[in-house]
Amino acid sequence: MQLTGAQLIGFGTSRQGTTTFTGMDAGTGQALSPDFHEATAAEVDQAVQLAAAAFPAYSHTTPEKRAAFLERIGDEIMALGDELLEGCTRETALPAARLTGERGRTVGQLKLFAAVLREGSWVEARIDTALPDRQPPRPDLRRMLIPLGPVGVFGASNFPLAFSVAGGDTASALAAGCPVVFKGHPAHPATSERVAAAIIRAARATGMPEGVFSLVQGGSVAVGMALVEHPLVKAIGFTGSFRGGKALFDAANRREEPIPVYAEMGSTNPVFVLPGILREKGAALAEGLAASVTLGVGQFCTNPGLFVALQGEETTDFIHKTGQALAGSAPGAMLTGNMLKAYRSGVDRLAAVPGTRVAARAQAPDGRAGAALLQAEARAFLEHPELAEEVFGPSTVAVVAGSREELMAVADGLKGHLTATVHGTAEDLREYQPLLQRLAQKVGRLVINGFPTGVEVSYAMQHGGPYPATTDSRTTSVGTAAISRFARPLCYQGFPDELLPDALKNANPLNVWRMVNGEWTKGKVGS
Ligand code: NAP
Repeated sequence: MQLTGAQLIGFGTSRQGTTTFTGMDAGTGQALSPDFHEATAAEVDQAVQLAAAAFPAYSHTTPEKRAAFLERIGDEIMALGDELLEGCTRETALPAARLTGERGRTVGQLKLFAAVLREGSWVEARIDTALPDRQPPRPDLRRMLIPLGPVGVFGASNFPLAFSVAGGDTASALAAGCPVVFKGHPAHPATSERVAAAIIRAARATGMPEGVFSLVQGGSVAVGMALVEHPLVKAIGFTGSFRGGKALFDAANRREEPIPVYAEMGSTNPVFVLPGILREKGAALAEGLAASVTLGVGQFCTNPGLFVALQGEETTDFIHKTGQALAGSAPGAMLTGNMLKAYRSGVDRLAAVPGTRVAARAQAPDGRAGAALLQAEARAFLEHPELAEEVFGPSTVAVVAGSREELMAVADGLKGHLTATVHGTAEDLREYQPLLQRLAQKVGRLVINGFPTGVEVSYAMQHGGPYPATTDSRTTSVGTAAISRFARPLCYQGFPDELLPDALKNANPLNVWRMVNGEWTKGKVGS
């Protein structure tokens, strides 16, 4: 296949094997090649070379131009209409209502990054003006974030729109000024192609350089590895399994030039339910918890896979009610047959841990996942930390602590997670403040009296957490702060004003917040 510019490369069939897709030229809608295949190493190389060639021009586009590009991607996605959603439902079994919401979120986050670019302060401009009379004299120093270079992004299976081709990682990398080579997830290849075509149409309509975006398809590790190992790729974004994320992280660190891998992997999002709130509203909490466990057939990275309470009558009743709600929940289709298999064997694996039992389980017909509740004593949990490992699907483990000390020990025994939640009355929360302090060391988002599912795309959101939840707890994959993952600081020393980027020029033509000699201001320098 001869590539001429930003294109869709490679191919696959849907997981059901019932549909054959054609790779399209995004501009003409014509098939690129009648015989589809997984992208070869040579094609991955071509896509990255194109991205590297696009980088100098793309990284110097104005914030306004990049904002217009991101907004146009959103418009092009909306223009795909219901066909996008219907095709996506066929590939993923996700219902239309969920996908309609997810499309809104996808377009919304593109628009949000456009707003971030127009506001401009994300570059973290800092200016220390020269002090020529000081001994020793201080030179003029100006620092800001600049884009890293071509970025490889891996689409998530569980968000075929919002964390796939035009999802959060792509939006934040493009916003930062980095071209993207996207590795499509094999669970939704046609959806990936449709959205990639929309991005390429948007790139052409807004005058972006060829190669700013390419899609490479694949259903084997070879394509992803070729991307991570390519010497011109400067960073990786990933959402998926611990095994996959760790393999990519290790590969990136084995490179001659190691690169950052921002991998969001697994999390069980522990929920602590304190005694006072159980007495006050245990029944309502049981309903809420079961709904959060089963949301999206348990296929969100934030579903609570673990909850902890102090032993007692209220806790017994709470676990019973949660079990009833889970057993009565409707079984759902999972994203792929392999995920269903992995879910069932994951529940069996948990049930086989000594000191653990299945407390409730929903009946499920063939091909559907039924919710499950497992129960263990805190002692068993402390001896078998594998009970806290993610089982992707609608299951959760109830851990009953015999004492406050044991409950604290469970918190101490946790590894890194995306979130932790504490339910408590005002008095509970005062009494258990040390629990909050300990959990703060373990997670990226701490929730009080809510549920961890439902991740807002906003300025203050943090979606990340200490290892093994992610490979870099200092960053987020959801929300506007994600943009800084794909940028690095550069200090300009002694530069004449006209050679500085606009964000650092004396006149502050972009009107951004800057730290000038230690004070935040939008003012000019030297006036
Ligand atoms: P995955 O197996 O980690 O795959 C995600 C992507 O990474 C795919 O494109 C896959 O490519 C690629 N990949 C995986 N291992 C690789 C390797 N060693 N080298 C190169 N590329 C590699 O995740 P998944 O398919 O989405 O789901 C599998 C399991 O991941 C689920 O059952 C669940 O446990 C977990 N998961 C977690 C989250 C979360 O939010 N934490 C989200 C989704 C899934 P190929 O498929 O082409 O090999």
